Amino acid sequence: MPASPMQFPPKLPFPKWLHDFTGLNTWPDLEPPYIPLDFIDFNKILNIPIHQQGQCYEFPDLRSPKSCSFDCFNCVEVDDVYTCSKLSQTFDDGPSPHTLKLLNEFDKTNTKTTLFTLGVNIIRFPEVYQESYRRGHVMGSHTWSHKFLPGLTNEKIIAQIEWSIWAMNATSGHLPKWFRPPYGGIDNRIRSILRQFGMQAVLWDFDTFDWKMLDTSSQNTRKEADILVDLKKFQKLKFNKGLILEHDAIQKTADVGIEIYNKILKSDQLTVPLCVGGIDYIKKFPQS
Ligand SMILES: [Zn+2]
Repeated sequence: MPASPMQFPPKLPFPKWLHDFTGLNTWPDLEPPYIPLDFIDFNKILNIPIHQQGQCYEFPDLRSPKSCSFDCFNCVEVDDVYTCSKLSQTFDDGPSPHTLKLLNEFDKTNTKTTLFTLGVNIIRFPEVYQESYRRGHVMGSHTWSHKFLPGLTNEKIIAQIEWSIWAMNATSGHLPKWFRPPYGGIDNRIRSILRQFGMQAVLWDFDTFDWKMLDTSSQNTRKEADILVDLKKFQKLKFNKGLILEHDAIQKTADVGIEIYNKILKSDQLTVPLCVGGIDYIKKFPQS
């Protein structure tokens, strides 16, 4: 859930290399334009029905294991990361004004975490992104503007991924390896695009549902204590293995991240690449 778009205008300059490549002069809004890339082969993109969130039973093809939809059926592929050899935290939807307060806790024990960032937030808070990266935390992509990818055309999916990568590259000079789909929206069509970028999907096996804390009016509201109790149960049941989904875009959810860190996991956790023995980034360019 990105913060309201116009509350913070873009702060990051639009780089010359990106102007030369795209012909544009400013960062896009929530609907980024598709820019063709020579390494993307549309023949390699699998043909799986476009569906909206929860629209899981209207297309028989979607039920086939060939589609492997995570949002509909929790299906994972061999190159998806969805758990970890040590129970570990991950954070989505930043960077935000609350990210560094959270990272200050991790930094006390020199513990690294994984942040799946939104392009639209990177260009609003580039200094938070740069500082998170400088401190050694692993930066992954969470798309440009948090769309449910299985509902988009191939071109729009590519646009969501390419613009998020360009925002990361423009801010800190690297190309991400790890990608978390918004709402867990991924199937083999999305994966067949993602793989052409050399990236891998990161899902989770413990959802904190921390965002439900914000919904104080309904019966679905969740309290910080509920999250801690549920997580401790999971930890015991899974012998301290797993990957936790959290959010650092909002004060309340970032605060739960601090509580989970201090009361449950501390430094006994890993970044996503360390969970699976992978690389942190596809490429890092020298920074001037
Ligand atoms: Zn998200």
